[in-house]
Amino acid sequence: MAILVTGGAGYIGSVAVSDLVARGEEVVVIDNLVYGHQEAVGPVAPFYEGEIGDSDLVTKICKAHSVDACMHFSAYAYVGESVTEPRKYFENNVVQTLRLLDTLIDNGVRNFVFSSTCATYGEPQYVPIDENHPQSPTNPYGETKLMVERILKSYDVAYGLRYVALRYFNASGATETLGEHHTPETHLIPLVLAAAMGKLPRISIFGDDYPTPDGTAIRDYIHISDLSSAHLLALDHLRSGGASEFINLGNGSGYSVKEVVDCARKVTGREIKAETAPRRAGDPARLIANAAKAREVLGWTPEHPDLESIIESSWKWHQANPNGYTPAA
Ligand code: UDP
Repeated sequence: MAILVTGGAGYIGSVAVSDLVARGEEVVVIDNLVYGHQEAVGPVAPFYEGEIGDSDLVTKICKAHSVDACMHFSAYAYVGESVTEPRKYFENNVVQTLRLLDTLIDNGVRNFVFSSTCATYGEPQYVPIDENHPQSPTNPYGETKLMVERILKSYDVAYGLRYVALRYFNASGATETLGEHHTPETHLIPLVLAAAMGKLPRISIFGDDYPTPDGTAIRDYIHISDLSSAHLLALDHLRSGGASEFINLGNGSGYSVKEVVDCARKVTGREIKAETAPRRAGDPARLIANAAKAREVLGWTPEHPDLESIIESSWKWHQANPNGYTPAA
């Protein structure tokens, strides 16, 4: 029996593929390589380039590899772009996912681990945010993920599709071989490290007038290896007959933008110039997970909960791969 990993060439999916293979699972990857990097999968698993909504292709994969479970990572995830180009997001994240789900059901696949997001909560009414917090996304990206969560609920009732939807907080860090390479890059930690490497003249701090101790926004950064280990536990939960669940993944502690920049200065020993810029639209002041459910239901324990080890791992990867997955021309 194999696990179909969609988006297995992406930042988080590639780590899950590597961890699944390492524990002896049979894995098959589908990725359209719009944002993914085939080098991130390497030869460890059969790779199909294509769309998850291509029923013929997904059916072929399910039959050829006896797929019994799916981890669905593939999605567009630029919040700003989702505001200016919502049709792209609803088509890719919702319509394509719906086709994927239908094809999986038609092929007898009933175990589904889904990459959801804390963006489904929207502006927090309280922190730490637990899974019962009201969901009211403030951008189309969050809406697309919430729509899929709702589809999953109905599909469980009607078709017996069992799922674990994992609501990620801020994915970050790197393994020895796999790291963060987005084009364009919008995330704080890789941009701060690009500034440390001299690839950017400075970092912009989006807002220093938030109601937080140092005025900058606070986020819950979670290492991709810890995210990945939760996916493997979610798979075990489903395979052993566990019920469908929505589960937060974060460390339960928050760091401000200024703390991230200071920590990166310490880790890299480099000068990192920072300037204050206007707030980014739609950015809440604080996003911190209550991740008790992940521990209780999945038995999950993060191994890299501290910011310093997260940034250290990223720094190592960026130094070893200064051009990301793209070799220098
Ligand atoms: N941020 C920033 N400068 C940047 C990129 C991000 O100040 O160049 C801030 C952003 O406003 C947010 C935090 O850093 O408060 C984390 O942003 P990121 O894009 O990494 O993740 P998000 O929380 O948006 O998912």
